[in-house]
Amino acid sequence: MARRKKVYEGKAKILYEGPEPGTLVQYFKDDATAFNAEKRAVVEGKGVLNNRLSEFFMAGLNQIGVPTHFIRRINMREQLIRSVEIIPLEVVVRNLAAGSLSKRLGLEEGAALPRPIVEFYYKDDALGDPLVTEEHIIAFGWATQQDLDDMVALALRVNDFLSGTMMAVGIRLVDFKIEIGRVWEGDFQRLVVADEISPDSCRLWDLQTGEKLDKDVFRRDLGNLADAYTEVAKRLGVLPTNVTHAAKPTLIN
Ligand code: UDP
Repeated sequence: MARRKKVYEGKAKILYEGPEPGTLVQYFKDDATAFNAEKRAVVEGKGVLNNRLSEFFMAGLNQIGVPTHFIRRINMREQLIRSVEIIPLEVVVRNLAAGSLSKRLGLEEGAALPRPIVEFYYKDDALGDPLVTEEHIIAFGWATQQDLDDMVALALRVNDFLSGTMMAVGIRLVDFKIEIGRVWEGDFQRLVVADEISPDSCRLWDLQTGEKLDKDVFRRDLGNLADAYTEVAKRLGVLPTNVTHAAKPTLIN
């Protein structure tokens, strides 16, 4: 059998050619990286959890009419997605101050924001993904004004959906990052949510205790990352509640 073709390999995922034109297979690795890949580890089971969680969020968005690249999950680590032209921007939505916003503006982590704030970062690892303004984006041709308006609208709809979904299971959505891609339908283009939505790219705090259930557990050495993601998956009903660790097979006697 012919070996399938790898299209792209990133820090946490691999893209392979899909079974039909216009599709790709997205494979979720167990690799965890932070601080622009200066800190690395393999977290057993993370890829399986993120594949399931990203499926859950993307399928939910598709259902409420927010378009995404997600088609269907194939197996434990892979999902079928539409091939899109990724806009080279990370779109961050913030509901509470944390991370780089807290550092940049001297705000206490967890401080309330007057309204959700949408930010854009230029995707360039060598530059450390710098914060950019709409002026930069339009001047350098990364996106048009129309794209920007559509991206903000899309990001805020994702924020409403994710905030509500997480709130229902006792988790506060502090902030998150999405990537957006262009899909061509004849002469028309549409913007869709792409990449992944998982605890790797969100800040999730337990509503009651404030416990962190996202990649900050890894960034700040706060415990076992897979356990935190398993907790999120269990609460959302993505995993059965009696699973203690997603990575370990259970011996059936
Ligand atoms: N984020 C991400 N990838 C990045 C940068 C940020 O997924 O390359 C997410 C991060 O997990 C958080 C949000 O975007 O949920 C805002 O991140 P922030 O700007 O505070 O940067 P950080 O503190 O992660 O460096």
